[in-house]
Amino acid sequence: MAVKVLCILERRQSRAERPAKIRSRRKRPAVRKVRRATIMSNRFMARAIELSLENVRSGKGGPFATVIVEDGKIIAEGTNQVTSSNDPTAHAEIVAIREACKKLGTFQLTDCEIYTTCEPCPMCLGAIYWTRPARVYFANTAEDAATIGFRDAFIYDEIRQPLTRRRIPMIPLMRDEAQQAFRAWEEKNDRIPY
Ligand SMILES: [Zn+2]
Repeated sequence: MAVKVLCILERRQSRAERPAKIRSRRKRPAVRKVRRATIMSNRFMARAIELSLENVRSGKGGPFATVIVEDGKIIAEGTNQVTSSNDPTAHAEIVAIREACKKLGTFQLTDCEIYTTCEPCPMCLGAIYWTRPARVYFANTAEDAATIGFRDAFIYDEIRQPLTRRRIPMIPLMRDEAQQAFRAWEEKNDRIPY
């Protein structure tokens, strides 16, 4: 017994004598924090991937899902529901953003993280910028989506085209009359900026 105690004391002493070890121990909380954040991020993405698989199996829509996280907790989930709801805007990101905003009673998700199973299309990217989350994680790439028939590169090409050369005609009409609403907005004292 006495020998065992002596050994333990010796071990403690020898540890204390190693400054390098002490230094590395000081770094540990930060390393642990990063590792924990990565584990959590993987867990959230895994949940989104699980939802995307369920969505395919249930036939509700495309193989896409999104989860939105605030303070380390999932506050909203969304899957692609384009075909089941006859809503071309029902992409997973849009569905999840609507759900999160409804839940939080806000139109911006400033402190939230978005986990989406595929790089967002231009529509969802626009919605994400309006939503202003802290960051976005994505799994599949836009190229991956293109290989299974979900091509959105043409929208980026269209954005770069002048109005007169777009595939869907964009025709200017009644600008002077429409300006009235803009002037009314500028003069409105209790407007809510966004
Ligand atoms: Zn989208």
